[in-house]
Order: sequence, then C-alpha cells, then structure tokens
Amino acid sequence: MSGPALCTLCGADWRQGAFTSDCVECGGGAMERSCLVCNGACGATSLRCVHDSQDEQVGVWTVNCNFRRR
Ligand SMILES: [Zn+2]
Ligand SMILES: [Zn+2]
Repeated sequence: MSGPALCTLCGADWRQGAFTSDCVECGGGAMERSCLVCNGACGATSLRCVHDSQDEQVGVWTVNCNFRRR
C-alpha cells in the first residue's frame, strides 16, 4: 500500500500530493479529488485507483457520489 505512486506520463508523485493539471493520467488530482460525478456538489471525495490509473494511463477514480448512493 505504501511507496511512491508515480504518474507514468508526467512522473508526478500522487502520494506526495503532486499532479499536473493538463495530464490525462493525473486527471485533475493527486490521491483524491472532489466527486467526479457531480463535480463535488455532493461533498464526497473520489479516491485514485493507483494501479488502474497507471495501467490505463488515464485517471481512474472511485465513484461514491452521495447523490447516487442507495
Ligand atoms: Zn500525470
Ligand atoms: Zn457527487
């Protein structure tokens, strides 16, 4: 679980809170960002799936939107 989590495209260390705003793999955040579904209106946080992001070279995030939760 620990150790560096580096973007394979730009080399930003997400675990250090670094990301590049126009990098598709960074995808607008480091280890977490505001809810992707509703752009943060629900107050939930999307967490980065590090290995999926690195494998697919695109930002992959958990989806736990409070507006969609049942
Ligand atoms: Zn990046
Ligand atoms: Zn939401």
